[in-house]
Amino acid sequence: MLNEFKKKEQIDEIKQQRVLRKYIKGNDFPTLVITVCMHGNEPAALAAMKLLFSSDRILEGDLRGNIYVLIGNVEALNRSQRFVHKDFNRVWSRENLDLVRHAPKEEWPEIHELHELKSMDHLITSIVAKHGVLPLVFLDLHTTSADSAPFIPFNDAIMNRKLAENFPIPLILGIEEFLDGPLMSYVNDLGFPALGFEAGRHDDPFSADRHAAFVELFLYHLGMIYLTENQIHELKNTLILGFKFSAGFYEIIYRHGVFPFSGFKMAPGFRNFQEVERNQILASDQSGEISAVQSGLIFMPLYQTEGDDGFFIIRPVSGFWLWISTQLRRLNLLRWIAYLPGVRVDTLNPRIFWANPKITRFFPREIFHLLGFRVKRTSSDRLMLVFRE
Ligand SMILES: [Zn+2]
Repeated sequence: MLNEFKKKEQIDEIKQQRVLRKYIKGNDFPTLVITVCMHGNEPAALAAMKLLFSSDRILEGDLRGNIYVLIGNVEALNRSQRFVHKDFNRVWSRENLDLVRHAPKEEWPEIHELHELKSMDHLITSIVAKHGVLPLVFLDLHTTSADSAPFIPFNDAIMNRKLAENFPIPLILGIEEFLDGPLMSYVNDLGFPALGFEAGRHDDPFSADRHAAFVELFLYHLGMIYLTENQIHELKNTLILGFKFSAGFYEIIYRHGVFPFSGFKMAPGFRNFQEVERNQILASDQSGEISAVQSGLIFMPLYQTEGDDGFFIIRPVSGFWLWISTQLRRLNLLRWIAYLPGVRVDTLNPRIFWANPKITRFFPREIFHLLGFRVKRTSSDRLMLVFRE
């Protein structure tokens, strides 16, 4: 009973703390939801949002939109840890949501993040109910363990591309195919645009400045605030200053996953977006050296002890591919997919299809990407195709 009481108290506390800022202009305005600290060891975004929304650059009276700034993993932030039991940006799966929405808490596994999930799911559901008719956009702010130029990771949906291409930094398509249960994919599957933003290294003193500059520019592009040409120029400079990179779209071609206790260690000195050659040694673990399977740019090398993404390899996406995929998606081929052999539509969600993995012999992943699908292998004999548009 005492335990139950404590659990309830814990949830109420989370509810109180989760909303960092809230500005409600009215139901005739677009809405922006900004999440910070989905990872508790990334406080730069929290500091940046506190500063930005108390500065005279954002005046509540002049805002032409509704804004929510939400803290993700409250308890992990209190402890300055990435997470308590499980990465909070990997728990937004249908199974977990079903569990926290319907099962009594006594039946939940001992995972703190499920309590955070219940509280935040409730909040997002109420924001969607209130503001979901007009444009409703989500931003998820992060920092990285390695030195990095800022970049925008997102699900490759046209609605996301349109928002991302306003920014002169690397735009990374399709990271969610390599991750289980990130918040952004959950929001996209609800039908709303959602972008991530990675501002730089966790403890880089300029990461908070880049978070603030990005959000201010974003508010401008959504038409929520007014900026002069000079201010826009200055904010874009804050984003790119000190980094060498090519702006534009990139796709992920490889992920090196890390198993617990495997002894994974990146070789020292890799920066995000650094060029690597095929067979170049990038890291090591108990079984020996780990080298690049393909040439490209190294992306998000892991320089912290927590996390299961060792590194990714990315390459630029051609303008032609972007154009042709936009045209194909306009044809809305969604309903024809179900006529392919071995493909069936999900019983609950018409945007999800299930297929036999053998289908990729005849229709490679790239074809599904062109048509606007996220492809995810959920077991040895099941492939999930999710329409992103
Ligand atoms: Zn993060």
